[in-house]
Amino acid sequence: MNFSYKRTYRGSIEAVLLDWAGTTMDFGCMAPAVVFVQVYKNQNVPITMEEARAPMGAHKRVHIQKISQLDTVRRRWQEVHGRLPTDDDVGVMFADFVPLQLKCLSDYSELIPGTLDIIEQLRSRGMKIGSTTGYLPDMMEINRKDAERQGYKPDSTVCAGDVPAGRPYPYMCLQNVMNLGVTMVQSCVKIDDTVPGVEEGLNAGMWTIGLAISGNEVGLPLKEWEALPAEEQALKRERAYRRMEQCGAHYIVDTIADIMPCIDDIQARIHRGEGS
Ligand SMILES: [Mg+2]
Repeated sequence: MNFSYKRTYRGSIEAVLLDWAGTTMDFGCMAPAVVFVQVYKNQNVPITMEEARAPMGAHKRVHIQKISQLDTVRRRWQEVHGRLPTDDDVGVMFADFVPLQLKCLSDYSELIPGTLDIIEQLRSRGMKIGSTTGYLPDMMEINRKDAERQGYKPDSTVCAGDVPAGRPYPYMCLQNVMNLGVTMVQSCVKIDDTVPGVEEGLNAGMWTIGLAISGNEVGLPLKEWEALPAEEQALKRERAYRRMEQCGAHYIVDTIADIMPCIDDIQARIHRGEGS
């Protein structure tokens, strides 16, 4: 046989899957970061905001464990406790984390500007809205109610605990595919503010858009971001874009408010027969 033939999807984008903190709500992805700092403080091991944010996007227990594996944190832990942190320590901190996180979630649940308008535009084009998160189901219950009060209600929400493993595994995305009745992973776009969140979409075979400014990479609430001098903004923007570029996202923009040109471009590329 002299030729082989490749099947390509040329239809419409069927679904857009959105992350929560740092993507659709909680500009700066503040809620988890402040609580990670607190649970380590409760063990007399102070950590920096940067250390607290490093593994963002993972299941929250995995996140606490990954912080405990940072060389700087291990050294500090050794100094205070005379030994390295164990999985039992991670368990204790996770038990500490859950109620603290539940208590403060609503303080950070304001929708990111542009979210409602973008959701309306996506839906008007017949796209379904799915979502994934590293939060636990009872945490999502709070976020979901707060979001709904502000007018945002995705068609599907999957938490890391609902599937065998969280990010960067593709399972939460694939569970959304099932929940939404989507036919092709190539017809989906995953949008996220963290590297593992983009990888989750890539691993699921989807198109991806990384958000550099509204989430974990800059890590500042909207007002603080807006108050930064232009030069400092430019420095942080450049660093955030560089980080997100390294994870292989198809597109990177500032915030959810900027995604529509990417959606148009993805749709045009799919129509031309390009795959994700
Ligand atoms: Mg996020």
